[in-house]
Amino acid sequence: MSLTRTTCPYCGVGCGVLAGADGTIKGDPDHPANFGRLCSKGSALGETIDLDGRLLHPQIGGQRATWDSALDQVATKFSDAIRDHGPDSVAFYVSGQLLTEDYYVANKLMKGFIGSANIDTNSRLCMASSVAGHKRAFGTDTVPGTYADLEEADLIVLVGSNLAWCHPVLYQRIVAAKQARPNMRVVNIDPRRTATCDLADLHLRVAPDGDVALFNGLLTYLADHGQLDMAYVTAHVGGCEATLAAARASDPLQSGAAPEDITQFFALWAGTKKVMTVYSQGVNQSQCGTDKVNAILNCHLATGRIGKPGCGPFSVTGQPNAMGGREVGGLSNMLANHLDIENADHRDTVQTFWNSPTICTQAGFKAVDLFDACAAGKIKALWVMSTNPAVSMPNAENVAQAIKNVPFVAVSDIMARTDTGDLADVLLPATGWGEKDGTVTNSERRISRQRAFLSAPAEARPDWRIISDVAARMGFADAFAYDSPADIFAEYIVLDAATRPFARDLDLSIFADADYAKLVPTQWPRNDVRFFADGRFYHADGKARMLPVQAPVAQQTGLTLNTGRNRDQWHTMTRTGKSPKLGAHLAEPYLEIHPVDAAEIGIAHGDLVEVHNVQGRNILRALVTDRVASGQLFAPMHWTRQTARGATVNALVAPVTDPFSGQPALKRGDVSVQPFKAE
Ligand code: SF4
Repeated sequence: MSLTRTTCPYCGVGCGVLAGADGTIKGDPDHPANFGRLCSKGSALGETIDLDGRLLHPQIGGQRATWDSALDQVATKFSDAIRDHGPDSVAFYVSGQLLTEDYYVANKLMKGFIGSANIDTNSRLCMASSVAGHKRAFGTDTVPGTYADLEEADLIVLVGSNLAWCHPVLYQRIVAAKQARPNMRVVNIDPRRTATCDLADLHLRVAPDGDVALFNGLLTYLADHGQLDMAYVTAHVGGCEATLAAARASDPLQSGAAPEDITQFFALWAGTKKVMTVYSQGVNQSQCGTDKVNAILNCHLATGRIGKPGCGPFSVTGQPNAMGGREVGGLSNMLANHLDIENADHRDTVQTFWNSPTICTQAGFKAVDLFDACAAGKIKALWVMSTNPAVSMPNAENVAQAIKNVPFVAVSDIMARTDTGDLADVLLPATGWGEKDGTVTNSERRISRQRAFLSAPAEARPDWRIISDVAARMGFADAFAYDSPADIFAEYIVLDAATRPFARDLDLSIFADADYAKLVPTQWPRNDVRFFADGRFYHADGKARMLPVQAPVAQQTGLTLNTGRNRDQWHTMTRTGKSPKLGAHLAEPYLEIHPVDAAEIGIAHGDLVEVHNVQGRNILRALVTDRVASGQLFAPMHWTRQTARGATVNALVAPVTDPFSGQPALKRGDVSVQPFKAE
C-alpha cells in the first residue's frame, strides 16, 4: 500500500500524516511540526474516512437534485437578493476547516465580485483576539515565534491553553524538551487544573478573565525590579510610559491567583531571559480577549523578549487552517494578504489584480453580528461552508432560529445531517479530508499540503469548485475559471507579489517557483527568517506599541460556565464521533462541578443535572471534582442536539464579544444548576 504525504485536518499544530486508502495512518517523520508523532485524534483518522452519514448528492428542499439545479438555485437566490436588496444582504459563513484555496475563492467572490465583506469564519471564535492584539502591537497580524523556539525556551508560560488535550503533539514536544533540559520551567495559568498541569512546575489558578490583572502586575513588578530593557524600548517600542501607568492601577491579586504563586511566577519571569508565553482560547475567547493579548505582549516588548531564539509571545491557533484563512482575508474585516479594507490603496491594488467589477469598502459583519443580522431580517441569502454554527456559536438556539429566519440558506458539508444542514434549502456535498487537495497554514506560519488519497465519493466536489461554479452562474465565469487548486494557489502567490509594498509581513515569494505537487512544508516568509530580530515592527514609524490595558472589574455572582474541548473529540464530532476508540475516552456530555457547589445543590458524582439560563438548557452528567474552583463549572462543547440530551453547551453562553476582535466570550456563561428530574 503506497502512502500519501498529507496533513492532519484537526488542530493548528498541523502535523504531517502518511495516509493510505485502506485506512493506514502514520505520523510523517519528515514533517517539521511533528517529526512522526500523532495524537489520539490524528491516529484515529483511518476510522473516520468511511462514507457512513456522508452527504453524497446535492439536495434541494430535502430531495435529491442534480448539481446543475442546485448550483443554479444558489446562484439565482444570491443574485436576486443582491439585485433587490444590495450586496450586503447576502453572507458567507465559512470555516478554518476550509483549505486556503477554498478560502481564497470564497473571499474573492464575496469581496471582489459581490462587493460585500459579509464573509466571516468560525475562526472568529478561535483566534480573532490574537489577530487584533498583534495588529495593535506590531502593526500587522504576525506570529513571531516557532515550535523550535518553544523547545529552546528556559521558561514556557501557558495561558488559557490546555495544550495537553487541544494541541497534543506540541505538548509532547515540550515534554520531550523538558526531559532533555531539566532546567526548563513551565508555568500554567488557567482557572482549571487541566491535564496540562502534569507538565507544570507551577499552576496559577486565576479567576476567569484574571489574566490582564496578572500581566499588568508582572509589568509593574518588572519595572520595579529594574528588569525593563529601556534601551530596547527607546529604540523599538512606543507607549511604554502610559502602559506602565495603566498597569500600576491593577492589583495582581485581582487575578484571583494565590499571592505566593504570583510572587513565584513574577520572580521566575524576571530571572529568565528566554521566555515563551503561549496562549490560546482561554485568552482569546473573552470579552477582554484583545486586552489580554496586549497585556502579554506588553511584558515581552518592555523587556525585549521578542525576536530572539527561545523568546516571545506565541498564539496557537485552534483549527488546521485558521492561519491560512487569515492570510487570504477570510475574516470580514480584512482583505487578502493581510491588507486592510479601510485603506483605499489596498482596495485598489486587490481590485485591479482581480480585475473585479467592485470591491467591498467597509468591514462586514463579524460572526455574532452576522447571525444577529440574520435574525433581524437583514440577510436574504446565507451560504454556510464546512461548519456547524447552530451548535458552535454562543447562544446557539438563537443562532439556529436566526438561520431559519433567512429566506434562502445553502450549506456545503461532507455530512448529510448536521444541526445547520437540517436548516438548509440547498445542501451541497463537499469532498472531505483525504479526498481533496490544497494547502493549510499551521500555528507557526508553515504552509503544508493536504493531498487526496481517496476518490471523491459519489457526487461530492471540492469547495473551491462549488464556489467557482456558483460564481460562474452569477456572471463571473472568466475570473473563476480554475481547473485545480494549483491554479488558485498560483494566483494567490502572484497577488501577494502584486500587493507589495502594502503587504508588510506576509511575503510568499518563496512559493513563487514552487512545484505545487511536490510542495514541502515551508514557513513564510522563509524557514530561516526570525520576525522582529532587527527590532523593526510594522507601524509607520517602525516601532511596536505597548497598549495600556485595564483589568476588568470582577463580576462573578453565581456559577460561571467555562466551555472547552475534550482530548479525543473535534468540534461538533461530525468526524471524531465516528471513532469508537475516540468515543471511549469521555463518552457523554458532562459538567465538572466543585465538591462544595455540588454538595450545596444536592448533586452526587454521576448524577444527571440540569444546567440552564435565559439562553437555554442542557442535561449533563455531573463530574464532581476540584479540577474546577468553587463557583466555576466546565463542560465540553462537542455534543449537539442530534447527539445529546437537550440543547448544546454553547447555547448556554450569552453572545457577548470582545469590542476589538468581535470574538465571543465562550469561556463565561452565567448559569444555574439543579438536579435533573425526569418529567
Ligand atoms: Fe492532528 Fe493536532 Fe493531533 Fe497533530 S496534534 S495529530 S494536528 S489533532
